[in-house]
Amino acid sequence: MSATGGRPGGEWWRDAVVYEIYVRSFADADGDGLGDLAGITQRLPALVDLGVDAVWLTPFFTSPQADGGYDVEDCCDVDPRFGTLDDLDDLVAAAHDLGLRVLIDIVPNHSSDHHPWFRAALAAGPGSPERARYLFRDGKGPDGAEPPNDWQSLFGGLAWERVTEPDGRAGQWYLHLFAKEQPDFDWTNPDVPALFESALRFWLDRGVDGFRIDVAHGMFKDPALPDMAGRFSHGGLADLGNPHWDQDGIHDVYRSWRRITDSYPGDRAFVAEAYVRSAERLRRYVRPDELHMAFNFNLVHAPWDAGAFRTAIDGNISALDGVGSPPTWVVSTHDSVRPVTRYGGGENGVRRSRAASLMLLALPGVAYLYQGEELGLPEVLDLPAEARQDPVFFRTAGERIGRDGCRVPIPWSGDAPSFGFGAGSDSWLPQPDEWAALARGRQAADTDSTLSIYRAAIALRKQLGLSARPFAWVDGADGDLVGFRRGDLASLTNFGTDLVAVPPDLWSADVLLASSPDPIADGRLAGGTTVWLTVPSGTM
Ligand code: BGC
Repeated sequence: MSATGGRPGGEWWRDAVVYEIYVRSFADADGDGLGDLAGITQRLPALVDLGVDAVWLTPFFTSPQADGGYDVEDCCDVDPRFGTLDDLDDLVAAAHDLGLRVLIDIVPNHSSDHHPWFRAALAAGPGSPERARYLFRDGKGPDGAEPPNDWQSLFGGLAWERVTEPDGRAGQWYLHLFAKEQPDFDWTNPDVPALFESALRFWLDRGVDGFRIDVAHGMFKDPALPDMAGRFSHGGLADLGNPHWDQDGIHDVYRSWRRITDSYPGDRAFVAEAYVRSAERLRRYVRPDELHMAFNFNLVHAPWDAGAFRTAIDGNISALDGVGSPPTWVVSTHDSVRPVTRYGGGENGVRRSRAASLMLLALPGVAYLYQGEELGLPEVLDLPAEARQDPVFFRTAGERIGRDGCRVPIPWSGDAPSFGFGAGSDSWLPQPDEWAALARGRQAADTDSTLSIYRAAIALRKQLGLSARPFAWVDGADGDLVGFRRGDLASLTNFGTDLVAVPPDLWSADVLLASSPDPIADGRLAGGTTVWLTVPSGTM
């Protein structure tokens, strides 16, 4: 593949396997215990070996790191902790040479409280044009001591913070739907869209292949800022009518963003992190003149249960019926408990997580993997409080444990921390000693490892051209068994613990790949297992 060209026919993203790199935790080239861009560049060959088509980099922009970089101080520069703009250019060039695309995050709902605009807003005082780029309001009650409305931060506590005015008095409040270090922009102020349009161009000019839009259902708020009064939820999927999520104004922004990517050569693409409740609302983000893709988090929320997976898959495919945007599949992200742990932990958790991933890689559309998923890493549940960094942990006084457990730097090689993550033993979150056995180098040499299964599945997915094949449920796959066909390939997953009978149509099928050893005995599929079968012609 050429540096910025596409697969024949273009639109490389339609059936891509995209690998999420949580920059702080992938690879540390300078040995300071924090991952960096140069580390990623050095390790790209491992991702080529895995077979992915693209990487998505979480924020590496200048940031005080109050929320792992999702608090952006300068959206057009690299934080020195992660390297320099030259390092980013090197990474993009190296990726393109290797045939990998590079998506980066863009964080438009809020900035850091260190952003020059926010500092200027604090200094300029109430009523100033500087304050009008954010959502500053007077408080309620005597002396304005109560917040302007009842909105809560997703990370716990109030969504409003009161400021001290330049004259030293307690003053206005500003809105922050996330941490208080992440003030929300006012997207009705023309400076704000202008800032982001120039940021998109800045990165597109540097050659990135597209963007993952953080909190893509955010940005606009009901201008009346009405109380929620218990009518809507703050977190989770956005309810229709929620005054701070999924407001209609957002779609004009995405139309203008789409015009920007369309004006560049090389199939640049957007993927939206849009947490909306209904398929109808999700479809609006991926209309032909808006974004290319939207994440669907149905599988992240589905418990290990055949019915739940069946419903999630059905819902995900039908949500996009006729819109022209491909379904996307995700079981793991830097915001969710790792699947090995969600599915029960221990050997069972690993077994089920492999089975879920093998199923996911056979589904139509785009597969998003999160680093470490391919190694079968569990959530690290016992991080000491003093090591934790997620604002969720601090804003809820530890009541919500937060997301650090899925962000522990990943193991590459060796017997002792940092397991090749960096040159020394340092890593910004401590790694469990048992991770020696899960290191990529160790797994690469073992044909039965989780890594080897991922590698084989991704290779087969491409070799068989699975993306172009029609999807159909397998007749007779019910109860604990979930099965679907992609042309002459059938994927069957047993969600139970007991053996289940393979539907008679598939008895003569050959096993192409399986998520556990000895998958089928006497026409019955082992528990917690996915198999890919080639269906002989005449039985379809
Ligand atoms: C990101 C989180 C981040 C939040 C606020 C999310 O959707 O994935 O990691 O904390 O947005 O920017």
